[in-house]
Amino acid sequence: MDLRLFNTLTGATENLVPLHDREVRMYHCGPTVYGYAHIGNLRSFIANDILRRTLEYAGYTVKQVMNITDIDDKMIKKSADEGVPLSEIANRYEDVLMADLRHLNIKIPEHIPRATEHIGGMIVLIEKLLREGYAYPASDGIYFEVAKSKDYGALARLDLNAETESRVEGAADKKSPRDFALWKFWTAEDGENVFDASFGRGRPGWHIECSAMAMSELGETLDIHTGGVDLIFPHHTNEIAQSEAATGKPFVKQWVHTEFVMVDGQKMSKSLNNMFTLKEIVEKGISPAAFRYWVLGAHYRAKANFTWEGLQGAQTALVRLAEHLGAEVGTVNEDYQRRFEELVTDDLDTPRALALAWEVAKDTSLSSADKTATLLDFDRVLGLGFVPHVDVVIPNDIKELILSRETARTTKNWAESDRIRDEINALGWDVLDTDKGTEVQKKN
Ligand code: AMP
Ligand code: ZN
Repeated sequence: MDLRLFNTLTGATENLVPLHDREVRMYHCGPTVYGYAHIGNLRSFIANDILRRTLEYAGYTVKQVMNITDIDDKMIKKSADEGVPLSEIANRYEDVLMADLRHLNIKIPEHIPRATEHIGGMIVLIEKLLREGYAYPASDGIYFEVAKSKDYGALARLDLNAETESRVEGAADKKSPRDFALWKFWTAEDGENVFDASFGRGRPGWHIECSAMAMSELGETLDIHTGGVDLIFPHHTNEIAQSEAATGKPFVKQWVHTEFVMVDGQKMSKSLNNMFTLKEIVEKGISPAAFRYWVLGAHYRAKANFTWEGLQGAQTALVRLAEHLGAEVGTVNEDYQRRFEELVTDDLDTPRALALAWEVAKDTSLSSADKTATLLDFDRVLGLGFVPHVDVVIPNDIKELILSRETARTTKNWAESDRIRDEINALGWDVLDTDKGTEVQKKN
């Protein structure tokens, strides 16, 4: 089945036509690893995962790349503040991010390039742009000359005659306020974070990182490129300008952008100090799977309003839905499967896909075994971690203890997790730690 996706570039929902048969090559702008990811960031990574799983469900193979930005102003400042090398900061927060992704049952992209490992490719790209007259040196770095670019700003529908919307930063001697830095010459603040290039010692600008990493891993034209809506301008706009100037080819066929997680009407962000991490919500008793369920309850192109009641509601719903899985796995119901595929391949309509999962759960004409098989099939995309259920009723007090123990384990509070295990044992249940989390079995 074909996948229909909304394309930010054309403003229309289009059939995906991959450049290489049934292989889809896609690139996601990943995190800057100078602190904990917040659940807004994690929503965008869950959206990427749903896209990958949907492609696989529809029979495509996927070549998936998510970059790690491990050098920029924020990284350098954090490393200077702590007096440790940049790589130590990067490794620390990359590890935390990977653990978050695993807890959220996100399939880890096979290719995770780090910017500092691709400096050579960035330098070659900048040399080409200089040679061909798209770039020029100014006092503090090398700039891209936006006036030389064809269709600059098409992605963001910029009005080039209006005042520039981007913060005007960079050298006073750049030719136009819209010109952006490809390379920043070394200053004392950069310390040892410096690279030699034919056009001067320094470090790359942010946008060139993604162009170089995407093209080196996936080729000059990508099938899909994703990110949060905040990246449409300037980041993705500038990626297009410099990549297409360098290759003369379209950079990306489909642009996919995920909307924000909002808190009290404002974007969740570190700078507004209204952010929550996965660890914080787990500490409040919300499981990572429940957070994932909450994310799937909103379409990726709609804003998602964060509230504790919303998360709690998602957790209750998920526990109830999972109760409909039985011990035996029968045959996937083809009619439901076809409807599910239609929904997820229609611009990743996860809210309606969840509603369909509920329809399956409540369908009294299906046997428990076929219901279970069908829900497990849906979970290849939903990724909620469904497992066949042994037909034993687990009492509520045991369920609460399991949840508390998972919280303790996620926060690495091993003493507390052992204590809760002993308590569960004393109530007559064995505790099993599986890939999917804690499970219990009634003692014989
Ligand atoms: P960053 O680490 O800031 O580069 O962000 C990583 C990803 O999270 C990017 O794709 C951002 O667009 C996205 N993002 C940032 N804030 C939010 C938010 N409040 N809701 C959803 N996605 C976000
Ligand atoms: Zn990027």
